[in-house]
Formats: sequence, structure tokens, C-alpha cells
Amino acid sequence: MADPVAALSGIDIGPSADVAVSLRGVTKTYDSGVVALGPIDLDVRKGEFVSLLGPSGCGKSTALRLIAGLSEPTSGAVRVANRAAPAGQSIGFVFQEPTLMPWTSVRGNVGLPLKLAHVPREQADMRVGRALAQVGLEEFAGAFPRELSGGMKMRVSLARALVTDPDILLMDEPFAALDEITRFRLNNDLLVLWRNLRKTVIFVTHSVFESVYLSQRVIVMTPRPGRIGAEFRIDAAAPRTEEFRTSAEYGAHCRAVSIALGHAGGEKRSS
Ligand code: ADP
Ligand code: MG
Repeated sequence: MADPVAALSGIDIGPSADVAVSLRGVTKTYDSGVVALGPIDLDVRKGEFVSLLGPSGCGKSTALRLIAGLSEPTSGAVRVANRAAPAGQSIGFVFQEPTLMPWTSVRGNVGLPLKLAHVPREQADMRVGRALAQVGLEEFAGAFPRELSGGMKMRVSLARALVTDPDILLMDEPFAALDEITRFRLNNDLLVLWRNLRKTVIFVTHSVFESVYLSQRVIVMTPRPGRIGAEFRIDAAAPRTEEFRTSAEYGAHCRAVSIALGHAGGEKRSS
């Protein structure tokens, strides 16, 4: 059983062996009085790929920020395996906007977390090189953000999240602003990375199709306040490829999730 004081304060002391993230009775009320979340109970297993799917405003980003430790729950406990690891090592965060520094190169942007952690130069260079190779950007280490396409900027952002080799990758609608062809490509590359690197991924999206394609489990959230409305296990075998995207199995999963999302209420996004 968890240390009760640590559990109350939301401080990690390490959940059971195969659980990466655990939320218990978690609520979040902002200072404005908006009840954004909860209560929510959620366990994510180590190495799992889970999507949080729901309409705009249903608390997806709030949930992710709580897991990242960027904000504190109003009540309940957020526990993350290995959060005691050196800052930024256990969790990598990818935002919808790539948020790159325009004045420095791809190499400089990806290396920022290592610089902040005072990782020695030689080791940092090696790790930046490895992260760039993981996202297929070795050739662009010296390029500046303004020279890159939207998809490449997102790859840089992903490399920056991977450079500290986190156990858990939190992704908040990372591909929502990209065109469909680029998004599909990044979906495929993300699945390859997930399989090879064995990360736990919690992926926020408002796209049924994207959530089903990527995930082992889709959590459908309902708004005001954000709660878990339904849960789907997507047990299609790996590797998932374009063939899966056009399969009857994929269509059936999308239909079931779509219906649950319709029941979840809230506004439908037109995008
Ligand atoms: P989603 O990511 O699903 O669109 P959010 O977690 O961003 O939802 O927001 C959930 C609710 O909380 C919304 O009503 C939103 O307006 C509100 N909210 C989000 N962040 C803040 C904040 N910093 N202060 C006050 N209200 C917020
Ligand atoms: Mg959001």
C-alpha cells in the first residue's frame, strides 16, 4: 500500500511494478471556479499506448498536465512510476505546438533539456544525435526551425522529448495541426518508435481515427466536468500499417468509439 502522506500530496513513491501512471479520485478545479476534471480513476500499464479521446474542453490537457506534474490535483492522488528520477527524465512532453526556439538550430533545440540538466557536452552530443536519428532528422541537425516544414518541426519536438530517454511520453494533440498525409506518416513513425523504445505513451487527441489507429486502449472522456465515459481495447496486432487503416476491423473499432463519443456529449469539433 502507498504511503498515505505521499498519496495525499500526490507525490510519487512508486506504484506497483507494472503500473506506470495511476490516478485515484483525481479532480481539478481551477482558480476561476471551472471544474475541469473528475473525479477520475485511471491506471496505465508500463509500455502501454493509451489515448485520451474527447471533445474540446473535456479536460484532456488538464489530465496530462497533472500526470506531468505541471499542475497539482485539487483532490485525489496522481502517482507516476519513477518520478523521483532526475527532473525531466521520467516524463517527456510533446505539445500541439512544436514550441521551438527560433534562434537556435535543430541540434540546439533538441539538446535544450540536456543543457538544462548540465549533461556534459560530449554525452549530450551523442544523445542528441541518437534522438535525431530516432525521428529521421540526422541530416537536419544544423537547420533552423524556420527552414522546416510543420511535420519536421513536430519531429524536432518529439526528438526533444526523447532526448532524456523518458519512460513515459505524454503527447497533447501533437499532430492536430498537420495535414493528413503528414499526420499518417508521423502516426506510423510513432508506432515504430513505441515498439522499439518500449515507452509508455499517453496520447491526447480529438480524432477517433487517430486514437484507434495508434492505441491499445482508447479512453473516451465526457465534458463538464471531464470524466471517463467509456473505454475500448483495440487488440489489433502489431505492426499496424496502412493495411490496418483500411481494414474492416479498423472500421468497426472506429464506429464503436464514434458512437461512444457521440454519447459523451459536448460540441463536435469541425476540424
Ligand atoms: P481539453 O484539453 O480537453 O480541450 P482542457 O483541459 O484544456 O480541455 O480544459 C478543461 C476545462 O478547463 C475547460 O473548460 C477550460 O476552459 C478550463 N481550463 C483549462 N485550463 C485552465 C486554466 N489554466 N484556468 C482556468 N480554466 C482552465
Ligand atoms: Mg487540450
